[in-house]
Amino acid sequence: MVAAKERCPVCGKGTLHAGRVNEGLFGVDLGSFDAETCDACGESFLSSKSMDALESRAKELGLWGLASKVKVARSGNSLVVRIPSPLARYLKMKSGQEVLVAPDKGTRLVLELA
Ligand SMILES: [Zn+2]
Repeated sequence: MVAAKERCPVCGKGTLHAGRVNEGLFGVDLGSFDAETCDACGESFLSSKSMDALESRAKELGLWGLASKVKVARSGNSLVVRIPSPLARYLKMKSGQEVLVAPDKGTRLVLELA
């Protein structure tokens, strides 16, 4: 845990103050947690106790471990990205289901379920 009135390790200019911050994962609100927040850059640092609480909440909601690296494969002229089964179960995706695929900000891929 970061001590009160400590200098911000990110910007080096601000001072850290104890408070609560709202945290989310994959666009889902996980609630508010004890944290130290920088009064200059706004960066916040969760205590290890808060990190444990955040992880527990994410696990309760079935969100923990849903992000993973996958390889892009070729199929004919198209590229194929596998959706890992835990993610498919979370999204209730089914084989043969139609989805909308679109680029986002040049480096992201949005896959929207119908
Ligand atoms: Zn800062």
